[in-house]
Amino acid sequence: MSGYTKRRIVVAGGGTAGWMAAAALARTMGDAIELTLVESDAIGTVGVGESTIPPLVTYNRLLGIGEADFMRETQATFKLGIEFENWKRDGESYFHSFGLTGRDHWSAGFQHFWMHGLTKGHSASYDDYCLELQAAHASRFAHLPDNRMNYAYQLDSSLYAAFLRRMAEADGARRVEGKIARVELDGASGDIAALVLESGTRVEGDLFIDCTGFRALLIEGALQVGYDDWSHYLPCDSAIAVQTSSVRPPIPYTRAIAHDAGWQWRIPLQHRQGNGIVYCSRYLDREVALDRLVSTVEGTRLTEPNFIRFVTGARRKQWHRNCVAVGLSGGFMEPLESTSIHLIQRAVLRLIRMMPMGAVSERDVAEFNEQQMTDMLQVRDFLILHYKATERRDSPFWRQCGDMEIPESLTQKIELFRETGRVFRKNEELFAENSWVQVMMGQGITPQAYHPVATKLSDEELHHLLAGLRDSVAKTVASLPQHDAYVAHYCGAQNAVAA
Ligand code: FAD
Repeated sequence: MSGYTKRRIVVAGGGTAGWMAAAALARTMGDAIELTLVESDAIGTVGVGESTIPPLVTYNRLLGIGEADFMRETQATFKLGIEFENWKRDGESYFHSFGLTGRDHWSAGFQHFWMHGLTKGHSASYDDYCLELQAAHASRFAHLPDNRMNYAYQLDSSLYAAFLRRMAEADGARRVEGKIARVELDGASGDIAALVLESGTRVEGDLFIDCTGFRALLIEGALQVGYDDWSHYLPCDSAIAVQTSSVRPPIPYTRAIAHDAGWQWRIPLQHRQGNGIVYCSRYLDREVALDRLVSTVEGTRLTEPNFIRFVTGARRKQWHRNCVAVGLSGGFMEPLESTSIHLIQRAVLRLIRMMPMGAVSERDVAEFNEQQMTDMLQVRDFLILHYKATERRDSPFWRQCGDMEIPESLTQKIELFRETGRVFRKNEELFAENSWVQVMMGQGITPQAYHPVATKLSDEELHHLLAGLRDSVAKTVASLPQHDAYVAHYCGAQNAVAA
């Protein structure tokens, strides 16, 4: 076995992806690598990406980040899930919460017992059995023993990048400011040899991480790996974001409000609210979309509208030669389930696990690409579900969604649930059974049957189980403090909105 020579790792781009990668690499690999990040102040970042999902809690813990400090520095609030308004039908809403609903049996999820309960006169909503969901609706939060409350964060993305930058630089990462003018390839191998900046500076490396956002300067601009366009499944192609002042204390969840050609988000932070509209430009004019956004936001506008166009899809290869795409450079799916930062996290941790000792191994590359693409396809299916399974037919957009062909993998999942009430999680899939059940039922898919094991319980046992679970959720929720008071006490930042 040959000895190890220090790898020179170059991160191109300093948005959320760039600094998440740099902070994790610097903390994990330390002196074993030489780490440089290149970013351009003149170009800036995409400036959105504020709602996250629970694995980010683990990511931060892995990096030894103190939660209260991190939340204070990023003006973060806790997030217990997403409220989907007007998705199944205009005027109706449902909640996709983190955590579990009820209690599963190894042979069958809780939904089977709940459905059996319905036939026995137990009319309580499925929602009544989920702690995170009920806490969200009551706007309450606390850390509970044994991590019984599953949560994520709503945060200011530019403050998060700045926080990670401080950390990465303290851990030895070198930052170079300047615009990348050219990506230089090695004539013999075809690998990337260096980034050449407008100033003429050359930044050489052994491994390059492309975090240049939608521009994808390295993976596409230089290496031309190609892009799979998924907009026939997810037709939205535009977004506009604005930030507003808070008019009320922050709630512990994100809102996703459907309209006739897409949806709007509202993300409450400590000091302000993030808002945006996502839409399909085929059905909604940019000026009308802007008007709709600004006429429905609450509070005073703090920023000029940020217009963003995108093509939903993924690079055919996330890792090619000595270049790994992380973040928007690797592909993009709309933020409906707040999955982009998570895909960054998965890519970064995966890369660290597969860090080459010497030359890049094609086996590592193949493994990385397969795993990362599996994640992306699973997220894609979950997002398509929200558009396909709807009773809305009130606009050309919704009629297109209702009529579209969907991937066979999703058809199997939907029809299996419809026929049997069952959901199976495959290949460490991000969204677990509870997520699929909540969204499928929320979107109007009702199972026609349930598992016979539920009938094994006597009427008394069933009553005991269901009433006991409901009672426990209600009692725990009642014992929790208000979310805003908890945030203020635990990690209150200056100029946050007080209760
Ligand atoms: P960017 O932020 O665009 O950063 C690119 C970096 O590359 C910048 O530092 C730039 O200066 C640098 N760069 C580019 N070209 C050059 C050059 N020539 N020379 C030098 N440097 C260069 N994700 C979530 O998880 N939750 C959300 O709620 C969410 N909401 C979103 C809403 C919208 C409308 C969009 C479009 C995305 C959203 N995302 C969300 C995704 C999230 O914003 C991104 O995944 C995240 O910000 C990472 O972006 P990035 O770092 O890849 O790219």
